[in-house]
Amino acid sequence: MMSCALRAVLALGLGAAVLLAALAAQEPERQEIRAEPVRGSVHLLASGFGGNLAACAGEDGVLLVDSDYARFAGQIAAAVDSLGAGPVKILVNTHWHPDHVGGNESLAAARAVIAAHENVRKRMSCDQHLGVLEMDVPAAPAAALPVVTFSEGVTFHLNGEEVRVQHVAGAHTDGDSIVRFLRVNVIHTGDIVFQDGYPFIDVMNGGSIDGMIAAVEAVAALCDAETRIIPGHGSVMSKAELLDYGAMLRAFREAIAAEMAAGRDLAAIQARRPTAALDERWGKLSFSPEQFTELVYRSLEGR
Ligand SMILES: [Zn+2]
Repeated sequence: MMSCALRAVLALGLGAAVLLAALAAQEPERQEIRAEPVRGSVHLLASGFGGNLAACAGEDGVLLVDSDYARFAGQIAAAVDSLGAGPVKILVNTHWHPDHVGGNESLAAARAVIAAHENVRKRMSCDQHLGVLEMDVPAAPAAALPVVTFSEGVTFHLNGEEVRVQHVAGAHTDGDSIVRFLRVNVIHTGDIVFQDGYPFIDVMNGGSIDGMIAAVEAVAALCDAETRIIPGHGSVMSKAELLDYGAMLRAFREAIAAEMAAGRDLAAIQARRPTAALDERWGKLSFSPEQFTELVYRSLEGR
């Protein structure tokens, strides 16, 4: 059973999840994170609060994608331990948001080498502000920063797997990477994809709706009917589900663009609910229709 506090956190999204963390403090302490097999050496680890983690585990050790909020470090270490492949050797961050890099410091202390796009290190190195959510994110301690950075991508070879990390420009943030596990045909998209509802777009820090749409199209082009897609938030998806999500992003963008072309401001557009047909499916569990309307509006306004 999902508790009221957890339901509230999910309904209000990432910004509110941080703000409400204190209220829900006793829940994460009880929460166990289980490693669920995705395919072959790749497992999904998810607290349900922060972003999804992927672990590639085998005789060469563990490569982990993302590290959730800092307060789940103990549960994540236990879930990694349950895979029986030792501690995390390599940690890849898909982007800099605190629900994806919070466990970095503790994993680095356990000797993980952290890799990410160069803008992840830049943004984590100084104080940030998440516009629209009105959330300040202080600079991360030096020990939490990626020590391997790249501009286009990097490939890791371990556990018989080729793990290809590829930067996608200006989508959810300005430092997004997708992580492909080529042999087992699994892909972790970071927050380019939310399975459970309207996504967050960090429009004040280099993200954009057009970049999100382009990124989803690029990911879809890398997938076939067998690909298992681990989104930044929500359940594992198929290519067909990814295409549905991409169609939603395009339809939402067109609806807001048409309202803006008619000269309406943000408040008028939010009041008119031009995306009502999409809201039923997408506007419940993650970001609200009003929030996503603002993100898309700000993105189109800033072009
Ligand atoms: Zn994010």
